[in-house]
Amino acid sequence: MAALLAREWQGIQMFPAATQTKLYDYLGKLKEENVNTLTILVMGKGGVGKSSLVNSIIGERIVPVSAFQSETPRPMMVSRTRAGFTLNVVDTPGLVEAGCVNDQALDIIKNFLLNKTVDVLLYVDRLDSYRVDTLDRQIVKAITDAFGKEIWQRGLVVLTHAQLSPPDGLPYENFFSRRSEALLKVVRLGAKLKKQDIQNSTIPVVLVENSGRCNKNEDDEKILPDGTPWIPNLVKKITDVVLSGGKGILVDKALIEGPNPNAKGKIFIPLIVAAQLFLVGQIKKWIEDDISQEVLPSWA
Ligand code: GDP
Ligand code: MG
Repeated sequence: MAALLAREWQGIQMFPAATQTKLYDYLGKLKEENVNTLTILVMGKGGVGKSSLVNSIIGERIVPVSAFQSETPRPMMVSRTRAGFTLNVVDTPGLVEAGCVNDQALDIIKNFLLNKTVDVLLYVDRLDSYRVDTLDRQIVKAITDAFGKEIWQRGLVVLTHAQLSPPDGLPYENFFSRRSEALLKVVRLGAKLKKQDIQNSTIPVVLVENSGRCNKNEDDEKILPDGTPWIPNLVKKITDVVLSGGKGILVDKALIEGPNPNAKGKIFIPLIVAAQLFLVGQIKKWIEDDISQEVLPSWA
């Protein structure tokens, strides 16, 4: 499959030398743990910078980016190999249409991923949005219903447009932590993560700046306002998530066709239905008994 079609990862050579060194370092760490392939699924609303992020990671302009809802009409997987390592990044269409979660888009994504293992989920949104609402929660819920809660053990929240000046003179750190807290809360609620799920692993929030006008350091690396080179930082966080445990999500036929992977209680449905049938039968019998025992009034 994809590995056979993967092209040589030329884009990595386009990164500044300092970035390349760090990237090879992280790829080496993954290979040491026998991770030779990574499939990264990129999802989120439209226009948040998913396609730009895919291009930033690969280091090539490979998937179309547009300011105006051009939207990749279908998922697209970009595969690259380097030094015995295969990187697959899956760009997807936005998950919202006409103000609602587009379940069909999710089905298409799931079918596209048939027989592939999703190692990492990048849930993308913008840093410079000022609110989260029920729609965000519904998106997280839809992703969770599609792939199972476990996907969040391999999940990162990625915030684009990181090069901003917060409003009202708020310190950057303060603005960032408020925005990430608000989003993480929505993820916890939408994914119905329990206390123990959260204690075992907190979902990292990673900043990125896809713009060509992103500031750079003396090594020519694109940096965040605090000076962190963001591409190596993102790859480091991805590596940490992969090596910290959890399992990739194999998208097999059972996951695509089977019941919602979170609805484990559904195995009780036949029992509940049987109990209900029994009850209905019992009630009918009581009514029939009542009718047969009824003493009719004389006028009847
Ligand atoms: P998608 O619909 O989520 O795939 O979003 P795109 O990648 O197509 O980006 C939508 C628009 O936002 C394009 O005009 C991009 O150039 C712009 N954009 C994406 N990421 C960033 C970012 O980090 N910073 C800035 N300034 N613009 C971005
Ligand atoms: Mg796109």
